[in-house]
Amino acid sequence: MADQAPIVVVGTGLAGYSLLRELRKHDPDTPVVMLTADDGTSYSKPMLSTGFTKNKDADGLAQASAENMAVQLNAEIRTHVRVVSIEADRHELVVTGEPAGEQRLVYSKLVLAWGAEPVHLNLAGDGQDRVYSINDLMDYRAFRKAVDGARRVAIMGAGLIGCEFANDLRNGGYEVDVIAPDHRVMPGLLPEAAAAAVRSELSALGVGFHLGTVVERVDAVGDGVNLTLASGEQIAADVVISAVGLRPRTEPAEEAGVQTNRAIVVNRALETSVPDIYALGDCAEVDGHVLMYVLPLMACARALAKTLVGERTEVRYGVMPVMVKTPCCPTAVYPPPADAEGQWQVESEGRDVRAEFRSPVGETLGFAVTGDYAVEKQALARKVPAIHSE
Ligand SMILES: Cc1cc2nc3c(=O)[nH]c(=O)nc-3n(C[C@H](O)[C@H](O)[C@H](O)COP(=O)(O)OP(=O)(O)OC[C@H]3O[C@@H](n4cnc5c(N)ncnc54)[C@H](O)[C@@H]3O)c2cc1C
Repeated sequence: MADQAPIVVVGTGLAGYSLLRELRKHDPDTPVVMLTADDGTSYSKPMLSTGFTKNKDADGLAQASAENMAVQLNAEIRTHVRVVSIEADRHELVVTGEPAGEQRLVYSKLVLAWGAEPVHLNLAGDGQDRVYSINDLMDYRAFRKAVDGARRVAIMGAGLIGCEFANDLRNGGYEVDVIAPDHRVMPGLLPEAAAAAVRSELSALGVGFHLGTVVERVDAVGDGVNLTLASGEQIAADVVISAVGLRPRTEPAEEAGVQTNRAIVVNRALETSVPDIYALGDCAEVDGHVLMYVLPLMACARALAKTLVGERTEVRYGVMPVMVKTPCCPTAVYPPPADAEGQWQVESEGRDVRAEFRSPVGETLGFAVTGDYAVEKQALARKVPAIHSE
């Protein structure tokens, strides 16, 4: 029975849709059902932090509706449904959604591409309904509605996403304050000199930084909020963005006996610990690596598509630098492995930083470039080993 059932893909983000595009190159016909908790619109998530700069609202960023995607991909796409449990031994899923309520669905193979969940801070105060996390197009639509006619936006978090939104909102003419616990921006991603360059260019653009502290309260005041920081400082804002991190979704797979760690554990063939269940994208920990970026998920989609048509294929990652979309200070980074031995060697002049992480024997294992040096990213990418290959 399960043999004749469709392949079921949970998630229509970049991971789910990229997988289907790749699959259809090898196999135009095998029945596929895609399930998604959202409306299934195809869009490029990285573009969410460029809306003002590129003069595009949520509709402008939408690429195709679920109906269009269903035709393009020869798949059935069920929108606004949520997988609530997996019965792996029966190859069955339980899904809920309006108007059908709870339903069961048999799969031949199940692919989990259900992404990651924004981390929500437990803050005091009655202004929580002005706090927005932006992790999909529907979130972005709600956020754009909230900032329409507003003037001041506070951003909690100075990671890649917080910094990108800060730049974009300044380009859109908003007053922007960024609050974050570390004393530098993008602490997990950039070496100190590159982080200082990005911060200084964002400051020059007019972004106010409140680093080394956290938001403790968000109180409603009129149509906006007042933020109370641990430092005692008070910040008035109309809207708040929470960009304090994403946590890979592991439930309900974990409950079904699928092994999880920081995310859903898969090997390089994207196989979970349970037969016929696979995972890729933001929800997957591939051979020990949680890489919540587009290039890794595309490489996984190419490999998994072949596996699904019977040619078991392991993913191979190339060198995949991360581009930080802060146009005031173009930045590219390829972080060295967390356990690498070595030191950063830095050349810098104002906003132009060229940092190479060199091993004790002089091998370049990672790099970060900002400003005018950002153009060197391709040349540097040729020097570094693909960190994640065996
Ligand atoms: C603002 C922003 C900027 C970014 N910029 C970059 C960048 O410049 N470069 C880069 O490489 N990466 C960037 N990223 C990261 C990149 O966009 C993500 O790694 C990628 O989009 C993740 O895709 P995904 O398909 O795994 O997850 P998602 O896009 O989150 O898709 C998850 C899907 O699963 C569905 N779903 C979830 N739970 C359930 C359930 N229980 N049942 C049914 N369906 C469910 C959702 O509705 C959705 O369809 C950025 C991310 C953000 C937020």
